[in-house]
Amino acid sequence: MQGTQPEHLRQRDARPEFWQLSMRCCQLAGSVDVAFLFIFLMLGSPILAWINVVSVAMYIYAYRAFQQRRNQLAVMLIRVEVLVHAGLGTVLIGWESGFHYYLLMFIPALFVSMPTRTAWIYAGWLWAYYVGLDVLMWFIEPLQPISSNALLGVHVFNLTVVFCMFSYLALFYVATVTRAHKKLASMATTDSLTGLFNRRHMIELTEKVLARHQRHPTNLTLMLMDIDHFKQVNDQYGHDMGDRVLQAVSDLLKQSMREQDFIGRWGGEEFLAILPDTNFNHAGESAERIRKRVEELELYSDGIRVCVTLSIGITQYRADELLSDAIARADVALYESKSAGRNRVEVAEV
Ligand code: GH3
Ligand code: MG
Ligand code: MG
Repeated sequence: MQGTQPEHLRQRDARPEFWQLSMRCCQLAGSVDVAFLFIFLMLGSPILAWINVVSVAMYIYAYRAFQQRRNQLAVMLIRVEVLVHAGLGTVLIGWESGFHYYLLMFIPALFVSMPTRTAWIYAGWLWAYYVGLDVLMWFIEPLQPISSNALLGVHVFNLTVVFCMFSYLALFYVATVTRAHKKLASMATTDSLTGLFNRRHMIELTEKVLARHQRHPTNLTLMLMDIDHFKQVNDQYGHDMGDRVLQAVSDLLKQSMREQDFIGRWGGEEFLAILPDTNFNHAGESAERIRKRVEELELYSDGIRVCVTLSIGITQYRADELLSDAIARADVALYESKSAGRNRVEVAEV
C-alpha cells in the first residue's frame, strides 16, 4: 500500500545510496547551472541567465532539504527544476540546444526510487512531455535565439554534461550492485554472530576438500569442539555475555587456524575445523594449543572473570567414507572428552 504510507515512511523506500547519489547530482547540476549563468551573461541573454539563477537557488534548497532528510521535498524541487529548465531552454533557444537530454536522466532515477507500476506511469508522462516538446519545436521558432556558434557551444556542453552524468550513474549502479552482491554472498556463508562459516557452507567446503582428497589423498583431520558448561555461562551471566564468549572463542579459533584450514560454527556452541594436509600428531598439538588458549581467555562480566573451557574431539578422514561418518567419529571423541571430565582433547581411532 505504497500510496497510503506517510511521507517519512515512503522516503525510506529508496536505498540510502539513492539519496546519496541524488545529493551528488544536486551538487553537479547546481555547478552546471552556475556555469550556464556566466555563459548566458557572456552571450548577452539575461533571461536565460536569470533562469539559471533560479535553478541554482532551487538546487541549493533541494540540497539543504536532503541534509534535513526531507527527501520528498528535495526530489520534487529537482523534478520541477529539470522539467521547467529543459522546457524553457528548448522553447527559448531551440531543440538544438540539447536541454531536453536532461529529461532522459529521469528514467533510471524513476525506476530506482519508486514502485515499478508508478515508475511506468511517470515514465509515460515524461515521454509525452519529451515528444510534445519535440513536436512543438517543429512548428515554432525559438523565442530567444542565439547565434549558431553559441548554439553549437551550448549543444556540445549539454551533451558532454549528460554523457558524464550517465557514465557516473552507470558506475554508481555497478558499484552498488557489486557491493550488495558481496554482502549477500557473505550473509549466505557466514554466521552473523561469530563471523565464522555457517554449517551449510562448511558442508559445501568440506565436500570440495573431500573431492580433491579422492584425487590426491593426503592426511585430512577433522576437529570438533564444544564449549563446556556453556549453558551455565548464559544462566549465570546472561545471554549477552554468552554471545561475547562465543565471539571471543571464535576469534581465537580463527587466529589459530592456518591459511589452508577452515573453521565454522557447527551448532550453538560447537565448532568444526577441517585441517587439510595435517597428520594426527600435528592436529593433536594444534588442538592442545587451542584448548590452552581458550582456558586462558580473559573475559569479564561486571569485574568478575568468566572462565570457559573447550572439549575437543579429533579424527582423521578415511578414504572413501562419508563426511557424516567422519564427523560422527569426531563426535564420539568429543563425547569421550566430555565424559572424561571436559577441557580435554580426545582422538578417535581410525
Ligand atoms: P556441555 O559441557 O555438556 O557441552 O554443556 P553445555 O551447557 O555447554 O551444553 P548444552 O547443550 O546443555 O547447552 C548449550 C547452550 O548453548 C544452550 C543454548 O541456550 C546455548 N546457546 C546456543 N546458541 C547460543 C547463542 O547463539 N548465544 C548464546 N548466548 N547461547 C547459545
Ligand atoms: Mg557445550
Ligand atoms: Mg553442544
